[in-house]
Amino acid sequence: MCFIWDCTKSFARRHPKCFVGFFHPFTVLFVLGCTVFFVGLQMFYVVPELFKTDTLMYKLAWIAAIFITYNILGNMLACHLTDTSVGSLPKDRQIPEPGEEPMWDFCDVCEKPMPPRSWHCVLCNRCILKRDHHCIFTATCIGHNNQRYFFWFTFYLALGTGVALTTHMLVVLQYCSYFDLVTRNIDSYRRLPSWLYLNLFVTMYAFPAPAAAIVVQFLALRLNGTLHDLYSKTYDLGIRKNFKMIVGERGLWTFLSPSIKSPLPHDGTKWETKDTDISEC
Ligand SMILES: [Zn+2]
Ligand SMILES: [Zn+2]
Repeated sequence: MCFIWDCTKSFARRHPKCFVGFFHPFTVLFVLGCTVFFVGLQMFYVVPELFKTDTLMYKLAWIAAIFITYNILGNMLACHLTDTSVGSLPKDRQIPEPGEEPMWDFCDVCEKPMPPRSWHCVLCNRCILKRDHHCIFTATCIGHNNQRYFFWFTFYLALGTGVALTTHMLVVLQYCSYFDLVTRNIDSYRRLPSWLYLNLFVTMYAFPAPAAAIVVQFLALRLNGTLHDLYSKTYDLGIRKNFKMIVGERGLWTFLSPSIKSPLPHDGTKWETKDTDISEC
């Protein structure tokens, strides 16, 4: 698995245009296809095994499914459409103010100065404000301006696949007892419909990836870090301020919808640290 990952990274570095042209449409379609597949499976096959389709519970399940799907796809789209490059700054903020020069770096590729915590991305071919990583599933870089959307995108992906896994397990328990499953009673497995057995298998593999992604995002949020400096406490301002630095002034309300306006505390060029009040960094 590591070998495939290393080969993919190496190919991306050597042929960024080819990588973006081929992998981005493929991975975006993969997320869209999987979302439609799991919602359809869940609402037309799995949930009706738990609740009759004319009950209030089934209708509530539909509302929950639509809410989660809207937030997965809405945050994914917002993530892709939000420009988080240094070029998104007003012209006068693309150069350091007097006194800031020592804290800024220079990008040899763009041949322009870049603010602290910014990195050049070979796939986007731009410098990204507080670059976290390049996400192939949203076909863009994750940085200062769109990390909010990526955070909730991974959260709802993990929630959706987690709910799917739980409901699959509940349906399985209707066909055979917990004791039979634990003791691997082969007769109990034979009682499961083949579609349920197959779906359970697929769902078990779908859950770990978004669950791991949201855990990493929580780790980054905890210390106001990025994927590159997960355990650095340099920019840690306390959990409340760190959270607002990612999701903006509206805080937890952003949980409800990507359309909720939530201005970030700053433009991504001045980073307050533990040691300085407002580091003109
Ligand atoms: Zn650059
Ligand atoms: Zn990128």
